[in-house]
Formats: sequence, C-alpha cells, structure tokens
Amino acid sequence: MSSNCWSLLQVIFAIGRDPCTSSIGLDKVGVKTNKSGFIPVDEEESTNVSNIYAIGDICEGKPELTPVAIQAGRLLANRLYGLGKERTDYINVPTTVFTPLEYGCIGYSEEDAIKKFGEDKLEVYHTNFWPLEWTVAKRPENSCYAKLICLIPEKEKVIGLHVLGPNAGEITQGYAVAMRLGATKADFDATIGIHPTCSETFTTMNVTKRSGMDMQQAGC
Ligand SMILES: Cc1cc2nc3c(=O)[nH]c(=O)nc-3n(C[C@H](O)[C@H](O)[C@H](O)COP(=O)(O)OP(=O)(O)OC[C@H]3O[C@@H](n4cnc5c(N)ncnc54)[C@H](O)[C@@H]3O)c2cc1C
Repeated sequence: MSSNCWSLLQVIFAIGRDPCTSSIGLDKVGVKTNKSGFIPVDEEESTNVSNIYAIGDICEGKPELTPVAIQAGRLLANRLYGLGKERTDYINVPTTVFTPLEYGCIGYSEEDAIKKFGEDKLEVYHTNFWPLEWTVAKRPENSCYAKLICLIPEKEKVIGLHVLGPNAGEITQGYAVAMRLGATKADFDATIGIHPTCSETFTTMNVTKRSGMDMQQAGC
C-alpha cells in the first residue's frame, strides 16, 4: 500500500470535552460559568469572585493541556503564598497533535494573528520540506510543511511557529524557549542549523506567503 493510500485510511475521532461544573455548588458561592460550563477567569486565574480561582481545563478559552494546568497551578500557588508574581503565559504554549505525521505549534495561528494584529502587520514565511529519512523510503517530497508568523512592527518577532512533519513535538519544544525570550526572524536566520534535520528548516526560511513564490524545497 502506498503512503498516499495509507493517509486516506486515517480516521480522526475528536469529540471534545465538557467541564463537570454544574453540580459542584458554584452557584452557591456565586462563581459564574459560561453556557458550556467553563469558568471565565482573568490573567491571574481569578474568577468573578475575587478569592476563588480556577485553573486547568475548567477555564474558559485556555489551552486544555496537562503542562498548562500544572504550570498554572504552580504559578498561582507561588503568587498566593508570596513566592513570585509570574503569571501563566497562555499564548506561547507549545503543543503537538500526535497524528502519524505530527503537527506541532507555538503561539498564534495565522488566522488569530490576523484578527489580533491585522494582515498588514504580519510577515508569514513558509516552506515545504522533505525529511532525509523519507528520501530513501521514497515518501512524498513536499508533504511536510513549516511556517513562521512574524510581527513586522516588533522587528519581525516570531509570534507563531507551525510544523507538520516527523517528530514535530521534539522540534517544537525547543523553539518554545526561543519564542518565550522574544526571538525575531533575524535570530532564527542567525542560528546555525543542524544538517540534515527537519528542525533546521526554521533557520533557512526565506519565502514569504505575500510574495507568492514557490515554497517547495529546492534541494536536500
Ligand atoms: C483522551 C485525552 C488525551 C489527552 N492527551 C493529552 C496529551 O497528549 N497531552 C496533554 O498535554 N494533554 C492531554 N490531554 C489533556 C489533559 O488530560 C488535560 O488538559 C489535563 O488533565 C487537565 O488537568 P486538570 O487538572 O485541569 O483536569 P483533570 O485532569 O481532568 O482533573 C480534574 C479532576 O477532577 C475530578 N473531579 C471532577 N468532578 C469532581 C467532583 N465533583 N468532586 C471531586 N473531584 C472531581 C476528576 O475526576 C479529575 O480527577 C488529553 C485529554 C484527553 C481526554
């Protein structure tokens, strides 16, 4: 069976999750939930009742991920006990979908970035790539993809990173540190790649979406 046939046979089952907040007495203490039962919180995870906090999946509009819940709990405890002031950064969250071809991302999607900053403020770099291990196995040449979303007024600060390819989770985790530190496109360009890896793609990207230029990988 060719790899193309195999990809046609994939079934994705993702029905979502509901919070169990309807029967825990939130109404008795006056904590508000939205229509779906999620709890709206502010930047410090405070609910509408100032001394009641909510963290993790139960919060409205936050990424539903284990490390996010852990971090939010750790930082909230620090703040409540006077051990720090740091808040959880819900924007630069790295995550990966562990499909056979993994998809990893950090920060804004292109759609959300356009909504927040406007299309004219963004430069989007993108490219297809062909992992070395796929060359011998003759897997498709341009079915992996990398994208960087950069904020032009902030020296092309990288605000979104997306990768579809093998081991995307391993690639994504390290770049999350760079983005937390405010890395710009110039910082990515100045970083020396490791050849031949998929991750090095992010150090050599020069085709912008706006240019309409061909984004297929030119060589190995
Ligand atoms: C199938 C699946 C796969 C996932 N895979 C990943 C993954 O690969 N990576 C990742 O980062 N995240 C993953 N997640 C998400 C991750 O599990 C959640 O983001 C994380 O568990 C959230 O932690 P939490 O503490 O907010 O909630 P939970 O872990 O759900 O904890 C809530 C707890 O409250 C308890 N509880 C509920 N009601 C009551 C009550 N009335 N009284 C007392 N206790 C109560 C529940 O039993 C539960 O133990 C996955 C989730 C699912 C469902």
